[in-house]
Amino acid sequence: MSTMATKRDFYEVLGVSKSASAEEIKKAYKKLALKNHPDRNPGDDDAVERFKEAAEAYEALSDPDKRARYDRFGHDGLRGAGGPGGGTQFHDLNDIFESFGDIFGDMFGGGARRGGRNRVVRGADLRAAVTIDLVAAATGCEQDVKLSRKKSCQRCAGSGAEPGTDPEQCDYCGGAGQVVQAQGFFRIQTTCPACRGQGKIVRHKCNTCYGSGRESETVTLNVKIPPGMDNGMQLCLRGEGEAGPNNGPRGDLYVDVRVKEHPIFQRRENHLFFKAPITYTQAVLGTTIEIPLIQGKDELKVAAGTQPGETIRLRGKGLPDPRTGHVGDLHVEIQVVVPKKVSEHHEKLLRDLAGHEESEVHPHRKSWFDKLKDFFSSDVAD
Ligand SMILES: [Zn+2]
Ligand SMILES: [Zn+2]
Repeated sequence: MSTMATKRDFYEVLGVSKSASAEEIKKAYKKLALKNHPDRNPGDDDAVERFKEAAEAYEALSDPDKRARYDRFGHDGLRGAGGPGGGTQFHDLNDIFESFGDIFGDMFGGGARRGGRNRVVRGADLRAAVTIDLVAAATGCEQDVKLSRKKSCQRCAGSGAEPGTDPEQCDYCGGAGQVVQAQGFFRIQTTCPACRGQGKIVRHKCNTCYGSGRESETVTLNVKIPPGMDNGMQLCLRGEGEAGPNNGPRGDLYVDVRVKEHPIFQRRENHLFFKAPITYTQAVLGTTIEIPLIQGKDELKVAAGTQPGETIRLRGKGLPDPRTGHVGDLHVEIQVVVPKKVSEHHEKLLRDLAGHEESEVHPHRKSWFDKLKDFFSSDVAD
């Protein structure tokens, strides 16, 4: 999703040193966010980009877990947990206001752009990846996926208010979340700038989540992978993404499936392919060979006179299509193997055969070793 060819270092983005304290990081972000805030830079796309970039850097560095991973592994360390580009990808500016709105305070009345009273906002989607082998892809399997995500803060049950205190009714709007302003002839109803549409104000912010109502958690999810998944396919786990602010519903988790190459089978969609070597005599006279299946083995009848490169198709021995359940085929390509070396007896039989076929063959060629023996024996004779 990231279109930037190279991603800037998060510390560089915020203009802080790698040893900066949480407070310094927050301060640096606030400064950048206010400077590049869309309300201050209308129509300036570059400012929007800088605004997003700063939010992404802040999102990663303000979370101790993510910061530790970023310090060790760079942007790669955040892949999977937050988004494919490393770190959380904010889909639009609203996501940023949702996440860090409290940083701006009421300075911009940010709620106006979001509207709605006591709005319920869904949490962000997350992305993760699993790698499985071809057999597991064929049969389906279960895999554990570890990820860190936001959950509703336990201490304040998502309210953002320190336990023992309650969010208070907003004085500005009287709890309505909306205010009516008269502008000339018009009366315009807008979201309350004081409570940003909540109708409530948290005066004593929760000590764990600082009023955001959310905290990070690391979870291990058992993901069921249906039979037939292929490289590049994606599973969607509804409701396993980030918790939404103000106890909003969770986003979804998208799991990218990767399938490792198999040493024998090649796969094209739900069909399997492999090459079975047989000898010249087997090809001429016909044979039954044992072949591997993705699970177990089978016997394959090769008819007399089978040509090299001929393909025998075993219906229904491929992989199922995860959507339709339709099972593909196994295509066995017959290869005729020519021996590189044959025994003396074997060679004699072949020469007889060549005689029968009246085909021209090279005369027997003495090996280098035989020639060497001849050389020495002639030497001794002299
Ligand atoms: Zn809390
Ligand atoms: Zn209000």
